[in-house]
Amino acid sequence: MDEAFGKKAVQVDYPSGRVSDYFGQSVFSLEKMKSYLSKTTFKTLSAAVEAGAPLTHDIAEEVAQGMKQWAIEMGATHYTHWFQPLTGGTAEKHDAFAEFNSDKQLIEEFSGKLLVQQEPDASSFPSGGIRNTFEARGYTAWDPASPAFVVGDTLCIPTIFISYTGEALDYKAPLLKALAAVDKNAVKVCNLFDEKVTKVFSYLGWEQEYFLVDGSLWAGRPDLMLTGRTLMGHDSAKNQQLEDHYFGHVPSRVLAFMTELEVEAHKLGIPVKTRHNEVAPNQYELAPIYEETNLAVDHNLLVMSVMRRVARRHGFRVVLHEKPFKGINGSGKHCNWSLGTDTGVNLLAPAKDAVGNLQFVTFVANVLKAVHTHNGLLKASISSATNAHRLGANEAPPAIISIFLGDELEGVVRAIIDGSKHKASDAVKMELGAAVLPTFIKDNPDRNRTSPFAFTGNKFEFRMPGSEVNLSDANMVLNTIVAKALSDFSDAVEGKKDFEKATRSYMKKVLTDHQRIIFNGDNYSEEWPKEAARRGLLNLKSTPEALPQYVAEESIEVFNEFRVLSRAEVESRYEVKLDHYSKKINIEGLTTARLARRNYLPAIIEFSTAVANSIEAKEDAGVEAPRAEKDLLKKLNACIDAIYEGAALLEEEIQGAAATVDSLEKAQAFCTRVLPAMQNVREAV
Ligand code: ADP
Ligand code: MG
Repeated sequence: MDEAFGKKAVQVDYPSGRVSDYFGQSVFSLEKMKSYLSKTTFKTLSAAVEAGAPLTHDIAEEVAQGMKQWAIEMGATHYTHWFQPLTGGTAEKHDAFAEFNSDKQLIEEFSGKLLVQQEPDASSFPSGGIRNTFEARGYTAWDPASPAFVVGDTLCIPTIFISYTGEALDYKAPLLKALAAVDKNAVKVCNLFDEKVTKVFSYLGWEQEYFLVDGSLWAGRPDLMLTGRTLMGHDSAKNQQLEDHYFGHVPSRVLAFMTELEVEAHKLGIPVKTRHNEVAPNQYELAPIYEETNLAVDHNLLVMSVMRRVARRHGFRVVLHEKPFKGINGSGKHCNWSLGTDTGVNLLAPAKDAVGNLQFVTFVANVLKAVHTHNGLLKASISSATNAHRLGANEAPPAIISIFLGDELEGVVRAIIDGSKHKASDAVKMELGAAVLPTFIKDNPDRNRTSPFAFTGNKFEFRMPGSEVNLSDANMVLNTIVAKALSDFSDAVEGKKDFEKATRSYMKKVLTDHQRIIFNGDNYSEEWPKEAARRGLLNLKSTPEALPQYVAEESIEVFNEFRVLSRAEVESRYEVKLDHYSKKINIEGLTTARLARRNYLPAIIEFSTAVANSIEAKEDAGVEAPRAEKDLLKKLNACIDAIYEGAALLEEEIQGAAATVDSLEKAQAFCTRVLPAMQNVREAV
């Protein structure tokens, strides 16, 4: 993309000094608070942050003054509560620091009250019917675990967003509750092994894939602009067949974009680390060092918006849709997930001693149980109109959720199930004593790129989430269902005299019951769906098939048990997801029909007229027109009819689907009637 379109790489103003000099420069971190707050306030606040507790009103005033002073020094004139409505993006409403004082003079003002809580009008955000428009008030409240930051002239304060009656209207509030649930229940389990553990963190390392498109080409594609993907067109003769893009040389114009993006991200305290070309032409990836899940999710959302802004400066548009172009790879956002203790132990990494490994196997087994029991819910959490193009195609995980453990770990699991001594393979020496538990000698480097949920040595990698998604939902579900499995486990073994024996027999039962979720083979193979069906695993291909899992009784129960979401909240989220799906396909359908009628049909009519004129001119001149021209004309005529009729049929289907009252039936109609009608038009064009 270097020389194309006459665009040269934009010069980036690098900050002087090393990354460590400006990393986090735009963030009001705990470190900075030290110099803006009194000692006692700082102590109270950092204790609240550590405990995940909300800010108390008595220190809010001082924190607000300190934050304002810092922000003004950073050049900020405005502040906003930065929150995550169910649209999937982020929302902000900027207010200036300006107030009149008693002498009617304008001064910079910001109070503790404004820091802690705001009341934006919530009526235009999706709520799935939870909030009547006449009770439009919503509250945003600061989440001190995610520090405030300055973007441009605005101080951004990460907040949760709830309704007047306390229901969550956002993604952050339930995520925080899920993280608290997994913390509490994992600590309980850890304490059976080690009493010193007082906190367990959930960690997330995301890998953001994206496309870059030249801005002028993007502007020439209404379908890309309106729907995020191209609806018409054919494969390029050269796409990714030569496999020459993946990890290839980054073009200088793109590199300039990446460099500026990294600088901006680093200033915001986002530890981005890896950048490279992805499989498809003009597809790239950005990944940070993993962080605590709440912060990692905020940082991913922030990165997506910084990307959009920086791309424009470089004459690009960043395309985050999961499948912008047919025929080449789509984009995902892998979630690398683990749990770790405040004593520094990664609970998903094999240990050096037998007790540590018993703990490790306990956590792995409980993850298996959680993912198997709630695989439909997990699938629903990442299902959307856009991600549906990716899952199940031969490039991304299939629609079936299974877990890859690798030979070593699966060997251990089999040995526990069979009660036999684990036979270490030649390559790896792992000992599984009869009385003691496995002692891993070697890390597990196994890789299976086709698995949707893979053990990768010291973490699980969940590969289904799409590139565009807010990762809160998937991580909220994952941490909640794992909390449930851990809670069942501690209930079963607590107080048992021989704890190790009780644990081993519990593990044996859990692994026997849930081994069906383990699949180390090729997830893209034709045999796997058949095998999965025999195992009774769900194969939810379309989004309307997957979403009802969100409101399945087991899902509602697990959300309720850990107070992550109430029944009303789960149901409202389900409604929002269905509604979002229908609206997305509706927009695509309308765009397809209008493009067909207003762009393609006139162009084809014009071309076919030119061919007809040519035939006529030749016959008038006394020679027979070439058969090719006549054939072409016939074909064009047939296409004109097909497009015209196809567009009419599509519009009819859209109307029918849009008029459906029940929201699930509506989504089904868009899926099974509108999508094929769109495909028809697309083929004719
Ligand atoms: P890949 O080969 O898939 O690119 P990497 O090992 O480079 O895998 O890691 C990808 C992501 O996983 C990075 O964001 C990294 O920080 C994150 N990661 C590494 N260890 C952990 C862990 N224990 N928990 C969560 N994420 C992790
Ligand atoms: Mg990966």
